[in-house]
Amino acid sequence: MARDLILRGGRVLRAGASQPEFLDVRIGAEGRVLAIAPQLSGEGAELIALDGRLVLPGLVDIHQHLDKSRTRGLLSNPQGTLDGAIAAYRAIAPNITRDEMIMRARDTVEACSAYGTVAIRSHTNIDPQSGLRGIETMLALRESCADRMRIQVVGHVTSDATSMLPESEAWLQEAIALGIDAIGGVPAYSSQPLAFLTMLFDVAERSGLPLDLHIDEHLDGGRVLFDALADLTRERGMAGRVVAGHCSALSAMPRDQALRSIERLHEAGVAVVTLPAANLFLQGRAADRLAPRGLTRVRELLEAGVPVAAASDNIEDAFVPTGSGDLLEIARWTVLAGHLGLNDLRRAFDMVSSTPASLMGLDDFGLREGARADLLIARAASVEDLVAAGTLARTVLMGGRIVASSDAIASTAWIP
Ligand SMILES: [Zn+2]
Repeated sequence: MARDLILRGGRVLRAGASQPEFLDVRIGAEGRVLAIAPQLSGEGAELIALDGRLVLPGLVDIHQHLDKSRTRGLLSNPQGTLDGAIAAYRAIAPNITRDEMIMRARDTVEACSAYGTVAIRSHTNIDPQSGLRGIETMLALRESCADRMRIQVVGHVTSDATSMLPESEAWLQEAIALGIDAIGGVPAYSSQPLAFLTMLFDVAERSGLPLDLHIDEHLDGGRVLFDALADLTRERGMAGRVVAGHCSALSAMPRDQALRSIERLHEAGVAVVTLPAANLFLQGRAADRLAPRGLTRVRELLEAGVPVAAASDNIEDAFVPTGSGDLLEIARWTVLAGHLGLNDLRRAFDMVSSTPASLMGLDDFGLREGARADLLIARAASVEDLVAAGTLARTVLMGGRIVASSDAIASTAWIP
């Protein structure tokens, strides 16, 4: 029979708090946080003694591509460029079966879960080679993994589909009917970037779904859509419901001009997701010397008050050949490659936890009464230390149930 669970003696990072406090957490049998307070009674509950371990909200990966995950061994990308990666995937996409796709994606979900990720938003290809096959497959994965991972599926219109506006709109309508969670796409690939972007807003507005775009993935500061994105977001009343991935070209624009665009994004209520792994790997390959990092202006965006999340993007495919699934690794790279400071480690944790959770609309996220108990328990002296050094002694709870543990967690007991 399911019982309440008490997490005893942990250092708990409550929602909205800057630092953890010594508190107990009571989780109801239905998987929600019932109480957070010092010295809670353990009556009628199972108890786990935490001996000062950190109790944190789980990690949230707002930008992955589970449909392409772990295809690295099937293809090659000799130039290591974005164009090379797209061409390589396009060549194998028609032959990928649903079973293969779901098997590889499930391996990635399991790896991410073991490191503490509790939610993933998967940008899923809609293109002439895949049609809606990836969407159908990822929607099936969303259901079959529900007890282990909260998955959201983005209809990601990419590759040649970005120049096929009527067809793309029809594909998106079908994907919406199937039950996708957000609308996405890559306007920078389109022969008509602005018309394509406007079509995505039209579809989002009609469906009531949020937008999560790859607004660019290049370093051409003369070919940008930031102001158009801000204007459309404001005109359509979509503040807080538009996410712009990459924004790499902000780093290629003159500083004054970039700061003006950042201010417009901020005023319009657009959030940004930085993707350091893909940017470091794919961008700047043509440079003769001093190859750029390829990341957006993370520091300036944060200073302007724009919500910024960091995410994995691709894991072991033609776009990024590496990836353990550990989001703390991504947080660490964001600090290093994004030129953040020694005092930004705590903020980097939010960039892979509460910020992306809020952008994904996970209203029941966080350590507070009534929220789902999707938690990461880790042995570390502080949140800053966890981000800096990333202990592997972690335990992950989904809905109050342990789904992964690499920590010899203290014995449990039933308190009558
Ligand atoms: Zn991506």
